[in-house]
Amino acid sequence: MAGKTVAVLGGGVGGLVSANRLRKLLSREHRIVLIDRNVWHSFAPAYPAVMLGQKVARQVSRDLRSLERKGIEFIAAEITGIDLSGKTVRFDGQELAYDYLIVSRSTFTQPPSSARPASRPTVGTSCRGTAMRRS
Ligand SMILES: Cc1cc2nc3c(=O)[nH]c(=O)nc-3n(C[C@H](O)[C@H](O)[C@H](O)COP(=O)(O)OP(=O)(O)OC[C@H]3O[C@@H](n4cnc5c(N)ncnc54)[C@H](O)[C@@H]3O)c2cc1C
Repeated sequence: MAGKTVAVLGGGVGGLVSANRLRKLLSREHRIVLIDRNVWHSFAPAYPAVMLGQKVARQVSRDLRSLERKGIEFIAAEITGIDLSGKTVRFDGQELAYDYLIVSRSTFTQPPSSARPASRPTVGTSCRGTAMRRS
């Protein structure tokens, strides 16, 4: 099988776990490319420990550029679009062609419009996080 490209969108918890796991499972002929707007990933569940002075910020943060040492390509860029039929990801005026796509750009909440008050902050009723797609 010729080398494939896996694009991982988001270098948070979901993206990092996915990319690292895949790197261990796949031979080096296959590319794993992770894209995030931030160079640094901070592990949010450890924020309380920072607030309590048990850890310093550097201990709960990771430089995503260090992924390159493991054979995971890292691109620091704002993702602006995904073309599922063309199998490309757009960022900063460029495109990356992929064979497999992992979308892990964080969870978000969005209530159905019928349940959304006109003038109050919303309380989420649905949640989507990491998803893997083969198109
Ligand atoms: C204080 C705190 C404590 C928590 N404690 C726990 C806990 O104990 N247990 C637990 O299970 N969960 C906990 N959570 C929640 C947990 O941190 C999140 O559920 C988890 O980080 C979600 O992972 P994710 O990969 O989906 O998103 P994230 O980790 O948010 O990563 C998403 C990434 O996508 C990038 N991104 C998004 N959009 C774009 C774009 N357009 N272009 C480029 N990059 C983009 C972002 O920069 C980010 O790096 C806690 C959260 C907080 C804030």
